[in-house]
Amino acid sequence: MNDLPHYPTVILGAGLCGLSAAYHLEEKGISDYLILERDFKVGGLTRTEVFEGFSFDHAIHVWYSRDPYAEELICRKLLQGNLLRQTRRSYCYSAGVYTEFPYQLNLHRLPPRIIHKNIMGLIEARCELPREESPLHFEAWIYRTFGQGIAENFMIPYNRRQWAWNLQEMNYDWIADRVPMPDIGEVLQGALQPQEKKYGSNQVFWSLLSKISQNVDFGHDNPFRISEGVKNFKTTPPI
Ligand SMILES: Cc1cc2nc3c(=O)[nH]c(=O)nc-3n(C[C@H](O)[C@H](O)[C@H](O)COP(=O)(O)OP(=O)(O)OC[C@H]3O[C@@H](n4cnc5c(N)ncnc54)[C@H](O)[C@@H]3O)c2cc1C
Repeated sequence: MNDLPHYPTVILGAGLCGLSAAYHLEEKGISDYLILERDFKVGGLTRTEVFEGFSFDHAIHVWYSRDPYAEELICRKLLQGNLLRQTRRSYCYSAGVYTEFPYQLNLHRLPPRIIHKNIMGLIEARCELPREESPLHFEAWIYRTFGQGIAENFMIPYNRRQWAWNLQEMNYDWIADRVPMPDIGEVLQGALQPQEKKYGSNQVFWSLLSKISQNVDFGHDNPFRISEGVKNFKTTPPI
């Protein structure tokens, strides 16, 4: 690292945040920055690996944002022509049926015993006396918020798979409004019939027509077009 020239601005990581920082510096006419990335590829969690013709997403498989500036920047300025706008149609397969996202608000197709367990668990969780202490971890938060039925029939298995991590080792302060909080009236309504209202923050999203992947060479034939104009990039061991 000692032989690196001096840069007044060093950006750590070439994920969306790092690339966005570099893009905005360039927009202001500032080019004396350096992005350091420990991987051989740009994109961070947005990367897609292709093995034998099959694509594997690290994390992001769709793009969505409620921030009008981010939407304008990504969808119209940077990736226009490379995006497909889609309305969400997401389902969870469990107990032999497909349940639309968000599971807790669309229980009506499930077997009656599962609906009963889910709703009774939610009512019991709501009837518990308020406790002073906060839940210790994400799993405890799930039980306290959704009750035993929804927790064990959906939230815990789903989140274990999504995060590939022990939920007892995870915090829950990132949730904000990502997980639709169940209102008992709406849960009951969704247990009786299909909901007309759509819930959740990502009702409309964008898919990339050609996936973000491979090349690290900024300024050359880089499929990650957000990085056009980003010049000073170096792969590095983790610092
Ligand atoms: C499972 C999962 C699913 C998701 N699905 C979606 C989705 O469908 N749609 C959506 O819009 N968002 C989704 N997100 C959120 C989205 O992935 C992130 O908000 C976004 O990609 C984060 O970008 P970032 O630049 O902050 O971090 P990252 O993408 O993690 O980038 C960080 C970069 O820094 C590098 N780095 C880290 N440490 C060092 C170091 N010490 N030295 C050098 N380099 C380093 C890493 O290699 C990486 O390239 C998902 C996230 C997860 C975890």
